[in-house]
Amino acid sequence: MLHRLRNDFRLSIITLLGASAILGITPFAVLRFLQGNPFAAAIDLTILTGISAGVVYAWRTGDTRRSGLFLALVACSGAVLVGFVVGEPGLFWLYPCLVTTFFLTSPRIAVTLNVLSILALMVHGGAFRSPVQMWSFAATAAVVSACAYVFARRNQNQRRRLEHLATVDPLTGVKNRRSMDEELQMAAANAERTGLSYALALLDIDHFKKINDEYGHSVGDQVLTDLVTLIDQNTRKSDQLFRYGGEEFVLLLPGVDGADLEAVMGHLQQVLRRHMKHPGGPVTASFGVALLRHGETVESWIARADDALYQAKAGGRDRIVFADVLMAVASQSA
Ligand code: GH3
Ligand code: MG
Ligand code: MG
Repeated sequence: MLHRLRNDFRLSIITLLGASAILGITPFAVLRFLQGNPFAAAIDLTILTGISAGVVYAWRTGDTRRSGLFLALVACSGAVLVGFVVGEPGLFWLYPCLVTTFFLTSPRIAVTLNVLSILALMVHGGAFRSPVQMWSFAATAAVVSACAYVFARRNQNQRRRLEHLATVDPLTGVKNRRSMDEELQMAAANAERTGLSYALALLDIDHFKKINDEYGHSVGDQVLTDLVTLIDQNTRKSDQLFRYGGEEFVLLLPGVDGADLEAVMGHLQQVLRRHMKHPGGPVTASFGVALLRHGETVESWIARADDALYQAKAGGRDRIVFADVLMAVASQSA
C-alpha cells in the first residue's frame, strides 16, 4: 500500500483528498444537521459519499485518470452547491478545490472546472453580501487558479521531459530498452487476450566495430541513424523499433507471421543491402527472428531471437535466421 502511494502521485493526492474530505467535511455535516439545516447536511454527505467512492475506485482499478476527473467534478460542484446553500461561509471551500483540481486532472480541464465554478457562484450571486465582495472573491479565486495552472503546466512539461529522457535513445530517437521491456510485456499480454501474432526481429550490424575503428565514432553514429531512418521508412506504423544496445535493435512486428513475415524481413534486408553505406562500402546486418509462442515469457521470446541472431552471425552474417520451425530455417538469398 505504501509502495503504491509512493509511486503513484495522483493516487496519493486522491487518497489525501479522501482523508481530508472525511476529516474536514464530516464535522460540518453533523453541525449543519444539528443547526437544523438538513439540506446542507445532505449535500455534505453526498460529497463525502462521492469522494469516498472515487477513492475506492482509484485503489481498486488503478485508473487514477478517470477517478481524478470524477473527484475534481465532485469537489467543484460540491463546493459550488455549499456556496449556494450556506452562503458566504461556504465560499471558503472553493479555494482548496481550485488548487486540488490541478492535481486530479489535466491543467486544461482543471481551468475549465475552476472557471465554471467561479462563474456559477457569481451568476447565482446569493452567497455574496455586496458586489465588491463578489468581485474580490472572483479576483482572488482567479489568482489562485492562475498560480495553480502555472505550477501544474510546469510540472506536466517536466514530467513529459523526464519520460522522454527515460524512454528515448538520444542518438537515434527510437525507444530505448527500458520502454522495449514494457512494450514487449504489453504485446505478450495482448497476444494472450486477442490471439494476435507478434514477431520480434533482433538486428545487429555486421562488423560495426571495424567501421568505428577505421572511420571514427561519428561515422559509426551516422550509420546507426541511417539504419533507423531506413527501417522507419520501410516498416508499417504499427511496427516498433527499439535500440536494444550498441548496434543492436529490436523490431516488434504485430500481426504478421509465416510467409508474410518472411517477405517483410526479406524486403527489409534488401533495403538495407541497397542503401546502408559507410565511406568504405556497404554496411550489412544480421537478423534473428522469433514469433511469440502461446504462453511464452518475454525473456524466452528474446532469448530465442538472440539464438537465431547468433546462428545468423555464425552462418556468415548478412542473413536472416528464423527461430520457428514453421518457417524457413534460413533466408540467405543474395
Ligand atoms: P559482429 O558482426 O559480430 O556484430 O561484430 P561487431 O563489430 O558489429 O560487434 P561488436 O559487438 O564487437 O562491436 C559493436 C561496437 O559498437 C562496439 C562499440 O564500440 C560500438 N558502439 C556501441 N554503441 C555505439 C554508439 O552509440 N555509437 C558508435 N559509433 N558505436 C557504438
Ligand atoms: Mg555487430
Ligand atoms: Mg552487437
